[in-house]
Amino acid sequence: MECSVENLRFFNTLTRKKEKFVPLEKRKVKMYTCGPTVYDFAHVGNFRTFVFQDLLRRWLEYRGFKVAQVMNITDVDDRTIQGSRKENIPIKQYTERYKQAFFEDLEALNIKRVEHYPKATEHIPDMIILIKKLIEKGYAYRGEDGSIYYDISKFKDYGKLSKIKIEELRPGARVKVDEYGKEEAYDFALWKAWDEEDGDVFWETEIGKGRPGWHIECSTMAMKYLGETLDIHSGGVDLIFPHHENEIAQSEAATGKEFVRCWLHSEHLLVEGRRMAKRFGNFFTLRDLTAKGYDPKAVRYLLLSKHYRQQFNFTFEGLKAAKSAVDRLTNFAEKLLEAKGEGYGEKIKGLVNTVRKNFEEAMDDDLNISVTLASLFDFVREVNKLIDENSLSKEEAEKVYDLIMEFDRVLGVIGEVMKEEKLPREAEELIRRREEARKAENWKTADKIREQLKAMGVILEDTPQGVKWKIERKG
Ligand code: AMP
Ligand code: ZN
Repeated sequence: MECSVENLRFFNTLTRKKEKFVPLEKRKVKMYTCGPTVYDFAHVGNFRTFVFQDLLRRWLEYRGFKVAQVMNITDVDDRTIQGSRKENIPIKQYTERYKQAFFEDLEALNIKRVEHYPKATEHIPDMIILIKKLIEKGYAYRGEDGSIYYDISKFKDYGKLSKIKIEELRPGARVKVDEYGKEEAYDFALWKAWDEEDGDVFWETEIGKGRPGWHIECSTMAMKYLGETLDIHSGGVDLIFPHHENEIAQSEAATGKEFVRCWLHSEHLLVEGRRMAKRFGNFFTLRDLTAKGYDPKAVRYLLLSKHYRQQFNFTFEGLKAAKSAVDRLTNFAEKLLEAKGEGYGEKIKGLVNTVRKNFEEAMDDDLNISVTLASLFDFVREVNKLIDENSLSKEEAEKVYDLIMEFDRVLGVIGEVMKEEKLPREAEELIRRREEARKAENWKTADKIREQLKAMGVILEDTPQGVKWKIERKG
């Protein structure tokens, strides 16, 4: 696929504008996506963001970019420590369970594997190096509790992503927890000195006994694997402040370079108008839904079918509609494999070119999936009509099939479609007659019919459960 960057545009949270996407290196994209905090099963709200990030990656690949992507695993933070202490098991054992579940869910949702999944606990020395650099450069200081804080008054661009204006900086006012509101925009912890709440979760290091703050984890792992400037960084909108604001402050203060060129944030999945979140108790995990008999492909479709910058409500009606959309696409692909009509000529080329153009233009426009899917379903309707009228030839159907599979490399909802094996009617009749002959112990006739069927490409096998058949593949 030609690497077409001409029309590709993304909405950059930094500028609040749709901008032409130009990576630093031609044809290569360095992309960081904030991964899960493995303190519990992820809910489908979280997966809305992960599916969006997967769609983004797949679109970049469709457009011919080579993507180097990092998704971190936050396996030490306030929540993982609280969870493991509650169960009274080592944090590693606790987070491993949810990490594994997360990877199983990624697979079920057909989310492509990325290049690196670094774990925070395996990068403590790298974090120490970064924190020391911030201290040396005068951006960080040790508080009286022994923790090391980032002095936001020293970073002149603080607030450039979230657009918060800090009117009055209260010198020395600080937060030690990882998550807090804009009204509490104080100095934040890079390194948290051990306290009793941490139990046995700590590292003895040259900057003291303790553990890293959540924000420094991402800055460190992003720069370690992708370099000082990334093309894309993404996450849900709740991460804009303080997480991503603090990542910028840490990284740019340390390197003096722009940390991220394009920030993409996905809106929340809601339930009855409220963000789906663990703390509101209004969530479903993927496991909850599959246990109720829902197909993970339908969940994927539901999550990606609304534009990523639009909020929407999770409902079971929506999930059922998603299931029928997936079925419609799958049935369409199956029907294409069966089609062998008279041929529609030049007109089919016109339809194919139009749907491809619409699909690409809409996806290039900040992944405008609603327009993409609308034009795809228009196309499906038109071509289905042609198949029903017996107008589509085998060759034409194959071309359409290839196109649909190409689109599905982006959408990831159809997967492999097998040609349904159907017996020709005369073969059915022959099998019936052979059964009669066998019952009458007329072995000669039975063998003759077997040979006749073989010549038609139908292979028989007599089993204790009765006769079975398969169609011999040619070529
Ligand atoms: P966490 O595991 O809590 O760090 O969250 C993982 C990802 O899910 C982050 O990018 C969050 O912004 C995102 N997220 C959390 N809740 C929702 C939601 N209701 N809808 C969409 N994304 C969400
Ligand atoms: Zn992060």
